[in-house]
Amino acid sequence: MYIIFLGAPGAGKGTQAIEVAKEFGLVSIATGDLFRQAVEREDELGKKVREYMEKGVLVPNEITVQMVLGKLSAIENQNGVILDGFPRNLIQAEALDEAFKKENKNIDSVVYIKVEEGELVRRLSGRWVCRCCQLPYRISGTLTEEHKKCSSCDGELYQRPDDNLETIKNRLRVYFTETAPLIEYYRKSDRLIEVDGEGEVEEITQRIVAALRNRA
Ligand code: AMP
Repeated sequence: MYIIFLGAPGAGKGTQAIEVAKEFGLVSIATGDLFRQAVEREDELGKKVREYMEKGVLVPNEITVQMVLGKLSAIENQNGVILDGFPRNLIQAEALDEAFKKENKNIDSVVYIKVEEGELVRRLSGRWVCRCCQLPYRISGTLTEEHKKCSSCDGELYQRPDDNLETIKNRLRVYFTETAPLIEYYRKSDRLIEVDGEGEVEEITQRIVAALRNRA
């Protein structure tokens, strides 16, 4: 089973990918997390991608596609994979279809998590993330030092440098111009599942799980 999670920044792709992966025994690959880890390591990939991420624009396709295809070929999980945050434009989507065709693989479903724009901005500006396990938290107001701890792994909570208002606006602009056309691309090939991404986390997970089961 190969599934893509599609949606704007702040739609909840990462949170839901983790939950749905647990439910079906899948591996979740989040391109944003992979890039952030490379930036933290300050390795060659990290040095190449840092500036794009800080500006909130897409990392060039050659770098991204190569990284994702490499990661996919290294995965041995038999149940399958959730791709969170990839593809993010038509060139990446076509490169993925092309690579899968050669290996007789298929993208089974594309889960499009739909959230209204004002809610996306609210969620991103109040988002804190665990540095260790990437679990996101929604917090209104500021956090005192003693509360900056992940309830799941005790890791340190931080605000992503690209979760500031100016960069958030840029990322949303990039999403609507470059990524949103993928909704039609996957709808046309009958792979799209549209899910309402507003409400409680568990409720949304149930919607996605039910929609995927319905399709299988
Ligand atoms: P995310 O964690 O998914 O919000 O991604 C954070 C940043 O990583 C984005 O703003 C881009 O700079 C970069 N990024 C993540 N996924 C991709 C992708 N598929 N193509 C290009 N850039 C990406």
